Amino acid sequence: MANEASTRLADVRANIAKACKPSRREIDGVTLIAVSKTHPAEKITPLLEAGHRVFGENRVQEAQEKWPLLRETYPDVELHSIGQLQSNKADEAVALFDCIHGLDRPSLLKALAKAMDNTGKRVPCFIQVNVGEEEQKGGCAVADVPALIERARNADIPFAGLMCIPPFDIEPAPFFALLAKLAADNGLDGLSMGMSGDYETAVMLGATHVRVGTALFGARG
Ligand SMILES: *Cc1c(COP(=O)(O)O)cnc(C)c1O
Repeated sequence: MANEASTRLADVRANIAKACKPSRREIDGVTLIAVSKTHPAEKITPLLEAGHRVFGENRVQEAQEKWPLLRETYPDVELHSIGQLQSNKADEAVALFDCIHGLDRPSLLKALAKAMDNTGKRVPCFIQVNVGEEEQKGGCAVADVPALIERARNADIPFAGLMCIPPFDIEPAPFFALLAKLAADNGLDGLSMGMSGDYETAVMLGATHVRVGTALFGARG
């Protein structure tokens, strides 16, 4: 299993490097977040042993169950919250995570700011943008992005950039390009975009953070 994990990791890294070439980007400019949601610690350990340190989880409770113990052995792990976050989980999220990708509304922003003020731990956040304007999906409407950025700055929330999950089953490139433009228009560098099926495209369009699960861990059960 250790071998398989390091092979998958090497493959994904090589694909990212290839995708960096056309735009002459450095692979160091792309953070690979290994999305370990639903996978038990036994499946995560081989990647840690292969030297990987940046992981993503989408549920606070599941992350609390798995990561404190893993962190005893690997204290330099960087844990990203990539899912929808409920405001009543803000305290726990700020305590557990090193970066939060799902900031998408003023109520959550307030809760996160309060949690950061209380603990003195300031966690960088990505604003999630609903690039496909899908009703059922989380994310801030494109038109509301500048106002939310302004609020985050006023609340002294460290700002990581913009994040999106494009609509399922259609070509994602136009949505990645839209997110990149929104970031540029607002003077932001960080772009969290791209999953197992489309991370190379995302990197070509400027992703600084890709969130890859299946390509590293295999299918989720
Ligand atoms: C699950 C998930 C991913 C990873 O998806 P894969 O297709 O398995 O790579 C990335 N981003 C978010 C927000 C997710 O929920």
